[in-house]
Amino acid sequence: MNIVVLGPQGSGKGTQAERIKATYGIPHIATGDMLREMRELDTPVALELRAVLDRGDLVNDELMIDLIRERLSRGDTVGGFVLDGFPRTMRQAEALDDLLRELGRDLDVVFDFQVPNRDIVLQRLLARAAEEGRSDDTPEAIQRRLELYDRETAPLVEYYRSTRGNVVGVHADRKVDEVFREIEDALAEAVRHGKAPVR
Ligand code: AMP
Repeated sequence: MNIVVLGPQGSGKGTQAERIKATYGIPHIATGDMLREMRELDTPVALELRAVLDRGDLVNDELMIDLIRERLSRGDTVGGFVLDGFPRTMRQAEALDDLLRELGRDLDVVFDFQVPNRDIVLQRLLARAAEEGRSDDTPEAIQRRLELYDRETAPLVEYYRSTRGNVVGVHADRKVDEVFREIEDALAEAVRHGKAPVR
């Protein structure tokens, strides 16, 4: 089962991706986590990453595409994966298509996490920032990420709808268990339609 979760920061997609990983035994590939690890290293790239992440800007497409190319080439993704945080731009979505084609795989389901009320997202993010003490979660950076989501990432929903027709909208402003039930139903449906074998 090859899955992408799209949704603004604070929509709960990371939490749901973890549940998918635990239930279906496929790796959760979270680019934000990968970058936060990379920024701690003693490398020239780390220095740049610190600045970009703290501003809430997007890391350049080339670096992201290389990162995902390397990650998806690893054997643990052959039985499926949940991509969380990638793709975020049209360029990344197209590169992912090319990469999947090369690997002879495709996306089975694209989840679109929808939170109609942006205040809910903001509250969640500010609470998480306080809890986890994340230096990249300042109110300005959060605002910037939401802006960039609307401008760069939200259009990908339409892209997947038109190229594959496999987008499943998720009402993300509900309890974690309720959201996960909706996800399980959608994955079962995808399997019934022969999109992907269950492991
Ligand atoms: P996340 O944890 O997914 O919200 O990602 C945290 C930060 O990492 C984002 O605000 C971006 O600066 C960066 N990032 C993560 N994934 C990507 C991506 N696919 N393209 C560009 N920047 C990314």
